[in-house]
Amino acid sequence: MPLNTGAPRISPVSEPHTISLMPSVVPAAFFYSFLLDFLRRGLSNTLGVDSLPVMVLHPVYLGIGSNLGDRAGHLQHALDRLSELTQLVAVSSVRETEPVGPIEQGQYLNAAAAIETKLPPRQLLEALHTIERASGRDRTHEKRWGPRTLDLDILVYADRVIDEPGLTIPHPCLHERRFVLEPLAEIAAELIVPGLHQTVSGLLTALERAESGASL
Ligand code: ADP
Ligand code: MG
Repeated sequence: MPLNTGAPRISPVSEPHTISLMPSVVPAAFFYSFLLDFLRRGLSNTLGVDSLPVMVLHPVYLGIGSNLGDRAGHLQHALDRLSELTQLVAVSSVRETEPVGPIEQGQYLNAAAAIETKLPPRQLLEALHTIERASGRDRTHEKRWGPRTLDLDILVYADRVIDEPGLTIPHPCLHERRFVLEPLAEIAAELIVPGLHQTVSGLLTALERAESGASL
């Protein structure tokens, strides 16, 4: 059963620190979501209609990051809003990570969250942008991959593979970002990433191997 008892309180720590909500309920919640979705699709096919007007909850994994201002406060804000807007199922530990990319900027706090939502992918992305804006993020005045008060990414959305302007799912950088894969592996190590056909822990191991090979 999904948990929605409000967002957990987070604290920024340099070492991984688990704040997840009862992880034992997560596999069951996701199993039932997939089962419901499977049954709904089967019924749609039988009836010969594209989709039934049944609003199922879709299991979704999000990446959460901040490296500007009150970083922990922005993460907490995101979790609070997500718990109002969706079923918040689990949250990883929060870790401090080095920025990646060409722009010099401060360290990030990163986490991952598992949610269940009725919102379709586009609407979910819009909702995430609204949450980002409420944390002071202004996409019109920022550098690409520059510092940001809050970054919310859709990492995985059920079994969907989407490649449209402005929306790619699974997130296109998922497999190459340790700061994404590590927290995600805490809450969904065995999740098979659609399109990549590998588990999250498998992707993390492959990335670690590639990074250690590159540094030899
Ligand atoms: P990133 O999160 O990769 O560092 P940004 O937050 O600056 O980059 O987002 C850049 C664009 O990526 C956004 O305008 C958004 O529309 C797009 N985007 C594409 N796919 C996704 C996704 N799965 N999750 C979040 N944003 C996405
Ligand atoms: Mg983003």
